[in-house]
Amino acid sequence: AIYIIVSGGVVSGIGKGVIASSTGLLLKMTGLKVTAIKIDPYMNVDAGTMRPTEHGEVYVLNDGGEVDLDLGNYERYLDVTLSRDNNITTGKIYQQVIERERRGDYLGRTVQIVPHVTDAIQDWIERVSKIPVDETGEEPDLCIVELGGTVGDIESAPFVEAMRQFQFRVGHENFALIHVSLVPDMHGEQKTKPTQTTVHALRGLGLLPDLIACRLIIPQPLAKATKEKISMFCHVSSEQVVGVHDVTSVYHVPLLLQSQGIVSFLTRRLNLPGLNLTSEML
Ligand code: ADP
Repeated sequence: AIYIIVSGGVVSGIGKGVIASSTGLLLKMTGLKVTAIKIDPYMNVDAGTMRPTEHGEVYVLNDGGEVDLDLGNYERYLDVTLSRDNNITTGKIYQQVIERERRGDYLGRTVQIVPHVTDAIQDWIERVSKIPVDETGEEPDLCIVELGGTVGDIESAPFVEAMRQFQFRVGHENFALIHVSLVPDMHGEQKTKPTQTTVHALRGLGLLPDLIACRLIIPQPLAKATKEKISMFCHVSSEQVVGVHDVTSVYHVPLLLQSQGIVSFLTRRLNLPGLNLTSEML
């Protein structure tokens, strides 16, 4: 399978889930079968015991899995049926590793975050990415993996490291990364420094962004000069910088991304079969 990882920087809750779902939808329109995995780097095993006032409603899947709201976005945007294993938490991974340790599966070795936890994360993603999620019953071609939290957090560190290793496990041609960052607008001036800092942190952890999605919490689009500055300072071409401003409906985000050429970029980057998308198709 092919994997697109969606990570976040600066602050959480900026629309990473919507950008990940929208990217999946656009690639589904080109004829690919798409599945999705959401990683929530908290110790809770699932969202069932969590206060809805903090994380939003608990979303219940067909198999009874109690998961993060974002899984609902994936099911609606991609028209798929996901299962409890499509939501990975730190709690689930640790529980699995500890159960294996108690069974003696590690044959007396010292059990460590690297490689045992990071291997468990990669194995989980590979296994779940192959589970059919639509009525065709066929294995998906593409898996969107949304990494919750922000890069640089203690909480998400084992997952970031697992993704760094994963790009070698599956190969560069089967792995792309979209990093979602915040571009604050200060009285009409779009600031790039937080994006420079988070991309720097990401590269320091061994992950290189293929696309930088710049979230503006205003209704105005990313300015051309801001895009060029981010391209220059973050060492990517300007076609790799896309803007996502506030829109009246989150269902406009796929069109916004499409209009900035992300489908043709990802098609080339990942050698996808491709298909010319027209806005009428969306
Ligand atoms: P994250 O995954 O980063 O926590 P979400 O994708 O869940 O963030 O989005 C957070 C909130 O912001 C949601 O209520 C969503 O509807 C809203 N949102 C996301 N993107 C946009 C956008 N481009 N315009 C307006 N609202 C948005």
